[in-house]
Amino acid sequence: MAESSTNLDALPLSADDIVLPFRVEALDTRGRAVRLGSVLDSILARHDYPRVVERLLAEAITLTALMGSSLKFEGRFQLQTKSDGPVSMLVVDFMTPSDIRAYASFDAGRVGTLPRPAGDASLLGSGYLGFTIEQGAQQTRYQGIVALDGQGLEAAAMQYFKQSEQIPSAIRIAVAEEQLAGGGGARHRWRAGGILAQFLPTAPERMRQADLDPGDAPAGVPRHEIAEDDAWIEARSFVETTEDIELVDPELGLDRLLYRLFNERGVAVSNPMLLRDQCRCSEERIHEMLRQFKAEDLAEMREEDGLIGITCEFCARRYRLSLG
Ligand SMILES: [Zn+2]
Repeated sequence: MAESSTNLDALPLSADDIVLPFRVEALDTRGRAVRLGSVLDSILARHDYPRVVERLLAEAITLTALMGSSLKFEGRFQLQTKSDGPVSMLVVDFMTPSDIRAYASFDAGRVGTLPRPAGDASLLGSGYLGFTIEQGAQQTRYQGIVALDGQGLEAAAMQYFKQSEQIPSAIRIAVAEEQLAGGGGARHRWRAGGILAQFLPTAPERMRQADLDPGDAPAGVPRHEIAEDDAWIEARSFVETTEDIELVDPELGLDRLLYRLFNERGVAVSNPMLLRDQCRCSEERIHEMLRQFKAEDLAEMREEDGLIGITCEFCARRYRLSLG
């Protein structure tokens, strides 16, 4: 568990804005569950996105928290979409151990004319969903990519796991809007939840048992194709049948959700990891970026008083800098 200034032992397992790692030894399955509440609201409130864009970005944030929290080293996990739909780009950054930031680029006119409810597929259109992992000081980079082609983020992520990872994986994410009673202030808030499970048998040969069993291998199946393990079929079906309401229910903490899903097999959880709404922009970083620009481009960016105005796309913070 990474060092953190937060006392993780004091963090309730049923809290919002946490990632809860779990394992089901009997099914050789490990995973993480995530629940997001006020972190979503504080990220989204800084932008003035239409509700459907907020919902889609909340899904991307949930997916990023699930995948990024697997990093075992200091580094950054980034999710990015690029597509031809009304929402042309989503970017979500996860910095270990806990910091999340996100933004969306979209065409307000096209979003406005979509029939409601607008699904992920109609918002995104065709393009790709990409993941980038950057590891600390060495700047080691890993990139993975999957086509977005008429499916939502959850389905695309499943496709990605199938294509790129050797580990059998199952994922569910859900986002819900909670209506608040009473006048004044925010009338709604966002909640999201997700679960990612992966089949990691401690004895790798276990995965091959079915393949080596001469009894029931159908004719024509190549020897190297590995049949799915019964344990994984069971674990996967627990995850895939998790309902949206279970993932976001404020009355059902993550610890109880995991117990509900896996209690017949026995489930153990580790210390939760806290998630924070935290950008990493700074005057220093903006300076560094501007230094890469050509002098004539900088001249064009200067305002009347000679300062250069830059707004961070992630957190909407406005910087005004003199350069040179
Ligand atoms: Zn920022």
